[in-house]
Amino acid sequence: MTSLRLEYQTTSDAQLAIMRSTIRDGAADRPGIYRMLSSDGEVLYVGKSKRVRSRLLSYFRCAYPEEKGARILRSAEKIEWEYTPSEFAALLQELRLIKRFRPRYNVAMKRDGRNYAFIKLTKGAAPKLLVVRGPTGEDADIYYGPFVGALRVGEALRELNDALMLRDCRTDMKMFFSDQTELFQLARTPGCIRHEIGKCLGPCVGGCSAGQYDERVALARAFLDGSDDSPINLLKTEMERLSAELEFERAAVYRDKFERLEALRAQFGRLRFAVENLSFVYTVPGHEGEDKVYLIRRGVVRAEVAKPRSSKDRRTMKQMVEDIFSQPASPTAQVPTHEIDELLLLSSWFRRFPQEMKRTKHVC
Ligand code: SF4
Repeated sequence: MTSLRLEYQTTSDAQLAIMRSTIRDGAADRPGIYRMLSSDGEVLYVGKSKRVRSRLLSYFRCAYPEEKGARILRSAEKIEWEYTPSEFAALLQELRLIKRFRPRYNVAMKRDGRNYAFIKLTKGAAPKLLVVRGPTGEDADIYYGPFVGALRVGEALRELNDALMLRDCRTDMKMFFSDQTELFQLARTPGCIRHEIGKCLGPCVGGCSAGQYDERVALARAFLDGSDDSPINLLKTEMERLSAELEFERAAVYRDKFERLEALRAQFGRLRFAVENLSFVYTVPGHEGEDKVYLIRRGVVRAEVAKPRSSKDRRTMKQMVEDIFSQPASPTAQVPTHEIDELLLLSSWFRRFPQEMKRTKHVC
């Protein structure tokens, strides 16, 4: 890691000139990452570039003080940089450092993932499903996604909640299951309209036992995982019954519900396929022969090694590939919280540079 420390206030022209000339003399135009630190060592910002020297020098060309680069530079007292074998390696390293240090300027300016939404299954008694913009960092929650079109998915989720009679109220709503008789008698609360019209089991008013509610949650999870269609079948059966009874207006309402859930099922099917497809061995040529091999499974780098040069290296890598890819994993749209950022990064990388797929090798 190369570093440059300013002994003076960072905003003066003289200090900026020292900083700039040190970068000019010391930094190379090759892939890498850099960090800006405050006087007390706080990592303020982490960035990456294909050409570290050019990128760092561009901070000094900000025309207006309110520009992002100017603001970061004004707050920093020290700049550190290190080189990586490739732009891809820089991207990964940047992500890891941001997750580790959570620099305030990265957090404030975070863009990645903000355009995506996820379906979150909360933890605790009577879990509920809701659409969120990104993981909250509570590891015990389950996330499905990412996907675009939060509004459309939100509508479909409402149908799923209604079909399975799951709650959609405040997360901190107090629950009184029917098998909690003592508590229930002590503190009965009024039910809401969803319970009255048969759209929620009513775990808040003893309308179901904890086990009954959990069974419905399991059905919702199976639906989102693509292994159970009962929510759709419920709507289809109701639609057909109403149609047979010549209640066409009400049948049309059920047809719309049915179609929304069908669309959600199709979207999650595509998502599972896309996540599963991000599983391969990816060889990336590096700066001056520093080639790297990344073993990627379900959109996450599980291991990275220098490209094997000898038969011994090749045997070691073969064993790693077997270990990583032979582990059973059922296709699911469920993504562990700690893997979401990397999944987004990898899918965005291969979308931006589709020609990179030529460097990948799928493992059967
Ligand atoms: S009936 Fe109770 S648990 Fe169900 S949505 Fe209404 S308030 Fe929530």
